[in-house]
Amino acid sequence: MSVIDIPTSHPRYQSLMSREKIVEGLHTKVVTESGLIAHGRGESLDYFLGEATASFGRAAARAAVARLLVSRHPVLSVNGNAAALVPEALVELSEVTGALLEVNLFYRTPGREEAVEAALRQAGAKTVLGVGSDASATIDELQHARRIVSPRGILIADTVFVPLEDGDRTEALVKLGKSVITVDLNPLSRTARKSHITIVDNILRALPAMVDEARALKGKPEAELRALADAWDNHAGLAEALRYMADRLLVLAKEV
Ligand code: ATP
Repeated sequence: MSVIDIPTSHPRYQSLMSREKIVEGLHTKVVTESGLIAHGRGESLDYFLGEATASFGRAAARAAVARLLVSRHPVLSVNGNAAALVPEALVELSEVTGALLEVNLFYRTPGREEAVEAALRQAGAKTVLGVGSDASATIDELQHARRIVSPRGILIADTVFVPLEDGDRTEALVKLGKSVITVDLNPLSRTARKSHITIVDNILRALPAMVDEARALKGKPEAELRALADAWDNHAGLAEALRYMADRLLVLAKEV
């Protein structure tokens, strides 16, 4: 079944559409094979959430946006899956919060960073960091291609948003003293546990929610935004996500 054949009334419409976008991304070099596997891991966990944003997901999105709004140099780090799934929302979030967009890839194969940049530009991005000669700085804590960052972006950022990230990079960014925000459907991943603010939700829902929150919070007093971001307790948020999933499964077990 191709994208055009999926009726919007199909019970798994959103899920099927997201798979189509990921597969399309594979053909345009935006997504890698391991990106397909990561997407599958995410989708399976989304079943546990009931494929809907829970209250802790929305609250994390609000705290995350507050952090972006009070940061001096916030950066949105974009990988292949994020660019394939939510390019427009990433551009919108960048515009509303003033955070810069930077391509940052686990697998920096020839032509790939340009493909991710093209996806963002097609979605309306005017400036995209981390591509070609702009990717000229390195983070010593990391190995190989993942070390490469933009000297105008992640290198000097105080806050980095790394949706669907792997644990090693997250840990390195935290060690460098940066404030780290992520979106991850897996509350048990190292990224979810190491980040300062983890939005346990599907990126397809989390990014539009962040854009909404950013519009609502923009212009609020800085002290209020800072208090909102500082009040976020990530361990409590992850514990709540796990309890929510467990409780939901127990209820569902009675119904099957
Ligand atoms: P870690 O290294 O952090 O322990 P990992 O090895 O799973 O975890 P990656 O594969 O780089 O690291 O991370 C991808 C993460 O993104 C996974 O935790 C996966 O569940 C999550 N994920 C995949 N698709 C989505 C999505 N659409 N929305 C939110 N999270 C997603």
